[in-house]
Amino acid sequence: MRRREFFAGVGATALLSACASTSSTRGALQAAAPAPLVPVQLSADRIIKITVCTRPFRAQGPRLDVEQIGSKTVAHNYGHGGSGWSLSWGSSTIAVRNALAGGERRIGVIGCGALGLTSATLLQRAGAQVTIYAKDLPPQTRSTFATGSWTPDSRICLAAQATPAFKQLWQQMARTSYLTYTNLLGLAGTPVEYVDNYDLTDVPHAQAVAGQRSTIQFAELQEELIPELMTRPHDLAPGSHPFPIRYARRDTQMMFNLTAYQRLLVGDFVANGGKIVVTEFHTPDELSRLSESVLINCTGFGARALLGDQSLTPVRGQLARLIPDPEVHYGWSYNNVLFIPRRDGFVVQDYGSEDKGWNDDTVIPDRAEAEHAVAVIAGVAPRVESA
Ligand SMILES: Cc1cc2nc3c(=O)[nH]c(=O)nc-3n(C[C@H](O)[C@H](O)[C@H](O)COP(=O)(O)OP(=O)(O)OC[C@H]3O[C@@H](n4cnc5c(N)ncnc54)[C@H](O)[C@@H]3O)c2cc1C
Repeated sequence: MRRREFFAGVGATALLSACASTSSTRGALQAAAPAPLVPVQLSADRIIKITVCTRPFRAQGPRLDVEQIGSKTVAHNYGHGGSGWSLSWGSSTIAVRNALAGGERRIGVIGCGALGLTSATLLQRAGAQVTIYAKDLPPQTRSTFATGSWTPDSRICLAAQATPAFKQLWQQMARTSYLTYTNLLGLAGTPVEYVDNYDLTDVPHAQAVAGQRSTIQFAELQEELIPELMTRPHDLAPGSHPFPIRYARRDTQMMFNLTAYQRLLVGDFVANGGKIVVTEFHTPDELSRLSESVLINCTGFGARALLGDQSLTPVRGQLARLIPDPEVHYGWSYNNVLFIPRRDGFVVQDYGSEDKGWNDDTVIPDRAEAEHAVAVIAGVAPRVESA
């Protein structure tokens, strides 16, 4: 999938080899038997839309402190880079704890993306009365335009800022989120599922990894801190797999079907008595018009304009969405392009190097890039026949 996820897999494998004789419990998740490789239709004329959004990156990681803004106590919960969905339950658990610390039980949540929806849900579960205030609701939020993979350390902070305290916090967020996601498996609409991924390379994987270096050093935390939550990749012998590329490595990854997942979150929130108010705040002073004295700020990249938070750097990313096929339960990646078999529209993404899109907040779709990405992925599709 992404090059850094692949890195993590390599690390987990090496760690496992070293520990195999002493520990059988501290291991990466075992990949299940591979899903059958049915043919996949991938061509530019099957693109149904191209979406672009910006990851809300902060060099020091997400903002989770509590601030007094006028008469309001504001628990911040924004700046999750490329990991917002993956870390949402864990991050929002912390923000909710902060918001409820003073005993108030009527809480306002600003924002209706990944962090706002999970914060609101957790507040309700804690017995609070909750109103979400947001300019955009799904499917218009930036969260809607994410790839939809379990990527808990994607652009989460700079390597130099990953202090021991941050690593501890991140690990806590990742573990809480992972556990929560396992409770969403098997539900109607399949909000969360596991799918196989094949990482394809022209040279042995170790050499391919060595050739990929980013100029921006993002933290890589998965292999060090949560190896047992990442599936262990399996190298497939050249000639033993149906891809027209010599080297293939298979693992199994958690995937979020964001359309169904967001509908589930919004539906449950409203069914449990939650209110949603569509509104925009232009300055922090405007928060004073809300009746709640305690707020959780989940405005994502919007916090840059609202609070003047220049620590937020936009990292642009584009997805081509194609006509889905519910029979397809596997994806693959090749030459920095990935294909994810989302049920709410196949995803094809040219993810480039980790610094692709750095400090770029433009959101105009690039059709040529989308068509090129689809051509790359289609060109290495497995040679399989329809049953
Ligand atoms: C191309 C791409 C792929 C990604 N893939 C993944 C992935 O596979 N896995 C993963 O975990 N993460 C992924 N991410 C990252 C993830 O999408 C983000 O970290 C996450 O969406 C951030 O969620 P959020 O709730 O903080 O922000 P948003 O989704 O932007 O929500 C912010 C909310 O606040 C509201 N708001 C903002 N400002 C104001 C204001 N002034 N007044 C009122 N309301 C306001 C907005 O309307 C919105 O409702 C990806 C990101 C990109 C760009």
